[in-house]
Amino acid sequence: MDKQLRIALAGNPNSGKTTLFNKLTGSNQFVGNWPGVTVEKKEGKLIVDREVILTDLPGIYSLSPYTLEEVVARNYLIEEKPDAILNIVDATNLERNLYLTTQLTELGIPVVIALNMMDLVKKAGDVVNVKELSRQLGCPVVEISALKGDGVADAAKAAIEAAKHGKTLPQHSFSGPVEHALAHIEEVTVHNLPEEQQRWYAIKVFERDEKVLEQLNIPAGVRAHIEQDIAAAEKELDDDAESIITNERYVYIGNMLKGIYKKKGKGQLSTSDKIDKVVTNRILALPIFVVVMFLVYALAMGTSIADGGIAIGTFLTDWTNDVLGGAWLQDGSRAILEGWGAAPWLVGLISDGILAGVGAVLGFVPQMLVLFLMLCLLEDCGYMARIAFIMDRIFRRFGLSGKSFIPMLVGTGCGIPGVMASRTIENERDRRMTIMTTTFMPCGAKMPIIGLIAGALFGGSTWVATSAYFIGVAAIVISGIMLKKTKMFAGDPAPFVMELPAYHLPAWGNVLRGTWERGWSFIKRAGTVIVVSSIVIWFLTSFGSVNGQFGMVDDLYEDDAVVTDEYIAVVADRMGIPEDEVEPMDDSILARVAQPVSVVFKPLGFGDWKPTAATVTGLVAKEEVVANFGIMYAYDDQEGEEELEENGDQIWDRVAEDFNAFSGGHGQLAAFAFMIFNLLCAPCFAAIGAIKREMNSRKWTWFAIAYQCGFAWVIAFIVWQLGRLFAGGVNAIGLIVALVLLALLLWQLFKPYKEAQKLTVK
Ligand code: GDP
Ligand code: MG
Repeated sequence: MDKQLRIALAGNPNSGKTTLFNKLTGSNQFVGNWPGVTVEKKEGKLIVDREVILTDLPGIYSLSPYTLEEVVARNYLIEEKPDAILNIVDATNLERNLYLTTQLTELGIPVVIALNMMDLVKKAGDVVNVKELSRQLGCPVVEISALKGDGVADAAKAAIEAAKHGKTLPQHSFSGPVEHALAHIEEVTVHNLPEEQQRWYAIKVFERDEKVLEQLNIPAGVRAHIEQDIAAAEKELDDDAESIITNERYVYIGNMLKGIYKKKGKGQLSTSDKIDKVVTNRILALPIFVVVMFLVYALAMGTSIADGGIAIGTFLTDWTNDVLGGAWLQDGSRAILEGWGAAPWLVGLISDGILAGVGAVLGFVPQMLVLFLMLCLLEDCGYMARIAFIMDRIFRRFGLSGKSFIPMLVGTGCGIPGVMASRTIENERDRRMTIMTTTFMPCGAKMPIIGLIAGALFGGSTWVATSAYFIGVAAIVISGIMLKKTKMFAGDPAPFVMELPAYHLPAWGNVLRGTWERGWSFIKRAGTVIVVSSIVIWFLTSFGSVNGQFGMVDDLYEDDAVVTDEYIAVVADRMGIPEDEVEPMDDSILARVAQPVSVVFKPLGFGDWKPTAATVTGLVAKEEVVANFGIMYAYDDQEGEEELEENGDQIWDRVAEDFNAFSGGHGQLAAFAFMIFNLLCAPCFAAIGAIKREMNSRKWTWFAIAYQCGFAWVIAFIVWQLGRLFAGGVNAIGLIVALVLLALLLWQLFKPYKEAQKLTVK
């Protein structure tokens, strides 16, 4: 029997890797992580030959060790030595894409090039001389359109053939001084490595690639000897070693392409360019962005179509909430469990704990799916890449790089990959700042919070849901500008070169898959983390010590001997509420713990133990905020079916009532401040973990958390205090402090940006 062949799929981000991978493997995929890191690893069996395994490498621009993706990809190629590399190349962007190709061909692994997006090239009337390209690169080139499926099977067959019999020799040589140094390096350090890998290693040693130097562990004497050779080449070519290699590669590619890529009608604007004239227009770009995002949120989370809005998401969520969050699921399950004769605590745990918590979160899945669908559409058609470009123009004026904006776009799904995406920023200060601010974006898990507040207190107002997105964006921009003016973060912006992919009609397969992947990971969390924490929260809200006796607070409150009138007075006093509003839960462990903490949130308008508990448990997972509300307010359902039917009392109505009660009638304002705080404060523990890994410093991690919480507090404070100028009930001291804080903020924002001292190049 043949041994199983392994083919690696490599290419730039956005080159069509995922599309091709899906076409080649169909549904036959296994998704996991690369060992030790959270970069996704996908493998699948080829449809044309089930014996061949295709591994999808992370999208990369080069094999240098600067991003996690690059390190993962090159370690795999060097250590696992797949039988062939299928290098997908975006034909509309050859120069950038071939940069990676020139490196792949040096690895000693047979390479086959899948020249993708040929449909676009042909449509534009351009011509690629494939034969010549193949000759110059020394490997087979197959024209494909991953999207349409053209040539895809041929590419797979060529890769299998190469894996069995192929050999790729790099056709490109560097300039004299470099080749001279490379020859020396090969001779003295890498001669005992597998022959086909020697050239790659030698080039990396020449580039002083730290990871490779570390791995090779070259004796000091030899190292010094090599260093002389490298230094000689650097002197002769008047550049540093790494730049020499980079430049020579680009020069080589540029020359090669002159004879290979023939553009039709040079100078004419393509449709894509025409769209960009409007969409990235200096004046129109921002208003268009606002309108687009407004529409996205209006469709997903705005006023339901049932109430005259356009939101399909809200319409569906209302329905699922009625089923999941309402009486149906909880009372239904309670009736069934009681019918089985289950113990009361078990009924409570399942109906008022797990089902209430998980149901509250799952109720928002439709809104989230609609939102993710829109965001995936915008990403797939090429619009999101423009946003980074537009933001770069704005950021640059304040000494910030648009690169800081890319992690933020990634962060709309989940903050963790957002934080990790900051790795592409070379400038240490900019990178730290980006890590600190990326999680201001409303990630998927914050969606339910937004949906809850917009729905329960604002009748599903589209403005409230949309504002959440723009508050996130504004928090990043404002923080960026303010921080950049401090000593800690000052410095010139890193250059930001970004190629805008051509617009194209979205590929539904990609879009639906992307939407589903994000939605599914949310549902999975609801089924794991949220179940566990719902159990904990249920316990903490159900048990407590009542007048010196520990037990289920509900039961203890039945006993008049325990809950005397004097005792009620004590509780009412402690909680700061009228005696007739005291409920058993006020004696729960959670209430006891959260009540003192709620002082922190008093100046923000939601200094009550329930929102306090929800906010704090949000650190476990942001979905937990809503799950917690679900559990705390599920409690009231025990008032019996008749009463429920009578006033049609839904959980979310009670949340609204409560917000109105403890904020002195300013429920909307308090809820808005609550939403702002929860959007901007420290992210969940998992994201904090990612921040810690990326900062690689305890001090900076704490600084980030403190900044996020502090910023969230100040903004929510200003909103609550100033808001009451309009809503009524102004607090003089609060207002003055808010005005001072606002003035300080504006001062830091608008004071002139001092040019950083120019870094002198050594
Ligand atoms: P990846 O980032 O490399 O995984 O790229 P994707 O597979 O996500 O593709 C990026 C975008 O290019 C998607 O919107 C695809 O629909 C589109 N795309 C991929 N292949 C082709 C192609 O052959 N022709 C055209 N017109 N678009 C393509
Ligand atoms: Mg992809």
